[in-house]
Amino acid sequence: MITPPFDAVSPGQVHAMDPLAELDARIAGCTACPRLVAWREEVGRVKRAAFKDWTYWSRPVPGFGPADASLLVVGLAPAAHGGNRTGRMFTGDRSGDVLYGALHEVGLASGPLAVSADDGLTLRGVRVTSPVHCAPPENKPTPGERDACRPWLVRELELLAPHLRAVVVLGAFGWQAALPAFAEAGWVLPRPRPRFAHGARVTLERGSPPAVRAAGPGAATAPGTVTLYGCFHVSQRNTFTGRLTPAMLRDVLRAAAGEAGIPPYAPRHRPLP
Ligand code: SF4
Repeated sequence: MITPPFDAVSPGQVHAMDPLAELDARIAGCTACPRLVAWREEVGRVKRAAFKDWTYWSRPVPGFGPADASLLVVGLAPAAHGGNRTGRMFTGDRSGDVLYGALHEVGLASGPLAVSADDGLTLRGVRVTSPVHCAPPENKPTPGERDACRPWLVRELELLAPHLRAVVVLGAFGWQAALPAFAEAGWVLPRPRPRFAHGARVTLERGSPPAVRAAGPGAATAPGTVTLYGCFHVSQRNTFTGRLTPAMLRDVLRAAAGEAGIPPYAPRHRPLP
């Protein structure tokens, strides 16, 4: 397990800092939500029998992927025995198997499996993050925890903004959490607010100059719009029941990658025949 000596800072303090790697480090040291801090650490102490030899990460899980990503995937929160164990988004659980399997099939991930933070997996043009960075009990963060974590997502969006063109939002919780973060990061939300649906597609314009200035120096150079795609979450509940099939997920990812200007395949990311 990696145990970097990150300082604990509140999410509201992060606006004084950049760039993305430093943001990730700051997120990993956050202790703003007492219930989630207690839960993530308790899970790491008790463990699941299958992972009894693991030293759990038991910290907030930062986003994963390059700083110049033009496509962002937004989930819900790390899984107790997935990201909370491995320290990387969607890594080490069945949801991640589905997500990274699809990313690989559309040429955005170097491999179909994500098992640990040092497994060598790389992403091409895409970054994966979540609006809540700590594993919540029963996968249900409270509205207060969601709101407490929003500044981290806002800052991440600001830093990604110069390259960001498309976003796949997994599930209604992520959708509801992401929209205000986009507004705070300088994009304009349509009125009424677009509702989540699988297949929903909405393009957000950049805000007026004051709004863009308020979003920070990185965002001020962002050239324009970002298109959000709604997709059912890759949870076992959805994938086991067939509510979300691999083909449905691939279709959304392909459309978003096209919108983001990512070429279909790079040779080293080409999926197996
Ligand atoms: S959920 Fe977010 S704000 Fe709350 S402790 Fe974790 S990283 Fe910090």
